[in-house]
Amino acid sequence: MLCAETIGPHHCLTLALRVPAVGTLDPLQEGGVTMSASSAVPHNPLGWDDAFLAKYDTIVFDCDGVIWRGNHFLPGMVETLKKLVSLGKTVVYCSNNSTKSRKDFVDKFASAGVPVARSHVYSSSSTIASLLLATPGFDAAAHKVFTIGFTGLREELRERGIQVVDSNDVAPPSLGMAGLSAAAPDPAVRAVVVGLDPSMTYTKAAYATILLLERDCLFFATNRDRTFPGARRTLPGAGSCVAMVAAAASREPTVAGKPSQAMFAAIAADHGAAPTRTLMVGDRLDTDIAFAAAAGMDSLLVYTGVTDRTAFERAYTADALPAQHRPTYTAEAACVLAGIPPRPFVPPTSADGSPIGPETASVGVAALPAKL
Ligand SMILES: [Mg+2]
Repeated sequence: MLCAETIGPHHCLTLALRVPAVGTLDPLQEGGVTMSASSAVPHNPLGWDDAFLAKYDTIVFDCDGVIWRGNHFLPGMVETLKKLVSLGKTVVYCSNNSTKSRKDFVDKFASAGVPVARSHVYSSSSTIASLLLATPGFDAAAHKVFTIGFTGLREELRERGIQVVDSNDVAPPSLGMAGLSAAAPDPAVRAVVVGLDPSMTYTKAAYATILLLERDCLFFATNRDRTFPGARRTLPGAGSCVAMVAAAASREPTVAGKPSQAMFAAIAADHGAAPTRTLMVGDRLDTDIAFAAAAGMDSLLVYTGVTDRTAFERAYTADALPAQHRPTYTAEAACVLAGIPPRPFVPPTSADGSPIGPETASVGVAALPAKL
């Protein structure tokens, strides 16, 4: 599996810097896609022609590692998104990142001059809210949700009218074993939601377990990604937080994030997206590409995120990838969709000369690197 487990962020940056100069790229082939042999990776190094884009009404973008890295938009992506919208494409954004609310995404796009409506953003947090509200027997007015996760998760749930019980409040480390034994959870809690929580503790997991075992609560996970590319090394992701609770409660959660189809069901319902007329653009095989395969969408794998091109192409040509991890197309960067040649991503340099951005982004509260 070629994902964050095997390919760290350092490789990604190295790859970006290895993008060849425009003049050295291969010429376009018929249909805009190089397809020299059945086992060859379908790759377009320069750009897609109008005939290619005409095949799709809707373009679904993963964000981290596709549109931006850390707080920085990748070269050409602002122009690409604007061009696709100007061509009449329905452009939607679909991220497993549960640390941000949809407002956070909208604000981030706006900061780059890209107007994006909240209705075009699908995060695992917003999908959890949709799943909860669509669950028979869940009454937002009467029921509450116990959350293990980041601020954005709770913000998103509250924005949708869902009452939240924050694990930071009711299950602090100071609760201890004695406190857990005596705990009397709010009887209104009807669901447990677990996402990436940088302050995950035994106490939080224990409290969630009590709810799942004794209250028969609903159980949701934002996503199951075991890791994410942290500032300088791979770190445990939401899936690792979920695993602790799932193991203790002997229950499997309903998952909102990719490759679960909950997000595509929402995109199809909200925007009328037909799988055969939709292109998924992502950087990760086991989420983005698998998500597209399950939905019946074409997919474009880009190398600006977690997937190492050399390792991927070796596995692809050796037929060592499961079918759901084989994208329809690959490209160096998503800007080729607008005919923009890929350029290296060079993180901006701070005033003291040290690089800033994904390679040095803090894993603190305000700058948790977005999950890929
Ligand atoms: Mg990604």
